[in-house]
Amino acid sequence: MRNNTNDSTYDVIILGAGASGLYCALHAATLGKKVLVLDHGGKAGRKIRVAGGGMCNFTNMNVEPDNYVCSNPHFVKSALARHNQWDFISLISEAGVEYEEREDGQLFTLGGAGLIAGLLVSKCHRAGVETIMNQEIESVSGKGPFIVKSKAKSFEAPSLVVALGSPAWPQVGATPFGYKIAEQYGLKIIPPRPALVPMSISGRDGKFCKELSGNALPVSIECEGRIFQSDMLFTHKGISGPAVLQISNYWRRGSVLNINLLPKDNISDLLEAHRSENTALHNFLARYFTRKMVGLLLEDEDGDTAISQLTKERRLKITERIHSWCIKPQGTEGFAKAEVAAGGVDTNEISSKTMAAKNVPGLFFIGEVLDVTGWLGGYNLQWAWSSGYAASQFV
Ligand SMILES: Cc1cc2nc3c(=O)[nH]c(=O)nc-3n(C[C@H](O)[C@H](O)[C@H](O)COP(=O)(O)OP(=O)(O)OC[C@H]3O[C@@H](n4cnc5c(N)ncnc54)[C@H](O)[C@@H]3O)c2cc1C
Repeated sequence: MRNNTNDSTYDVIILGAGASGLYCALHAATLGKKVLVLDHGGKAGRKIRVAGGGMCNFTNMNVEPDNYVCSNPHFVKSALARHNQWDFISLISEAGVEYEEREDGQLFTLGGAGLIAGLLVSKCHRAGVETIMNQEIESVSGKGPFIVKSKAKSFEAPSLVVALGSPAWPQVGATPFGYKIAEQYGLKIIPPRPALVPMSISGRDGKFCKELSGNALPVSIECEGRIFQSDMLFTHKGISGPAVLQISNYWRRGSVLNINLLPKDNISDLLEAHRSENTALHNFLARYFTRKMVGLLLEDEDGDTAISQLTKERRLKITERIHSWCIKPQGTEGFAKAEVAAGGVDTNEISSKTMAAKNVPGLFFIGEVLDVTGWLGGYNLQWAWSSGYAASQFV
């Protein structure tokens, strides 16, 4: 039912034509609401378009609450249960968007991220959503009706959905404006920090990384009780790659990363098993690592020693260096290189069923602006779809 006839009056105004905003708009319009979406960018769904290296890892076959970092771990349960990966998969399948499953259940389009963004934009259009791009939002005021002023015009609605994302990846128009609106209405913000982000390493370990920059290897990384096993890439500034991005969600300034450089083998057992060999240590290690890495791992040790001659102490030292490389990152590469932000609007202020602020009826927060951060693997977009859908049923 469209209740309003006035040009600038809507049932719901959604700020942000990104993943969660478009998804919420589509489902609210399908329920007959008069929906306006405002965005300061020139193109809708810009983060969707760059997602997954341009192929969009739009969801995952296995989505569980444990795949999310949130100060209130129960918060995501309701929205994820009510609209899950299968709902999104059926929406794109009906539209003929083809996809493939990659490792760890990650689902990517076959034809490019633009297909997902384009599908949502055209579905919104067909459902009657009005989308106005290039709108700098000057102010938000009122409490039902909410009044949104842009340079050109003023709009009002009894429901306002903040779908403004996070400041991560500002290259595509990301800003912290959503947090400002939350603060204006008295909601608490969990300080945002870059996540799914490469780490910077300084000092001796930093030099090690720089020397190996461009090399990747499978590792397991542990931090704050969490462990991820995947590839790690050495960079000029430190470390990156999927294993590092995953653990960055849990890393806090000052925390130590414990990296196992050979997670599928046990070097101590291997040395023991080959104890009778006269192979030089550096040649033995070159069976598992590149020559360059072996040189750096052995540092000033004598790599010519035959493994049969290694003392117990040296065996222990080598084992520790390989299986428990402990480093204290200096920091991350910041929001400019972060796929998402951890932190955001405190979920204790939000109903997990409706996504509405508990103390401000009619004001909704969805997607990444909330203190909900998914793992790498399609979980952040799934949160955008699930939270956007949840709000759409109550706006
Ligand atoms: C490079 C990259 C790759 C990624 N790949 C994946 C992936 O493969 N899979 C996955 O699950 N997740 C991925 N993500 C994360 C995912 O894209 C986001 O979590 C998701 O888009 C968040 O949805 P959202 O609706 O909350 O915010 P967004 O999609 O960022 O939408 C926010 C919207 O608000 C608008 N906006 C912001 N500030 C203002 C303002 N001041 N005034 C008006 N409008 C404003 C923006 O222009 C934008 O359109 C990736 C992120 C990046 C940066």
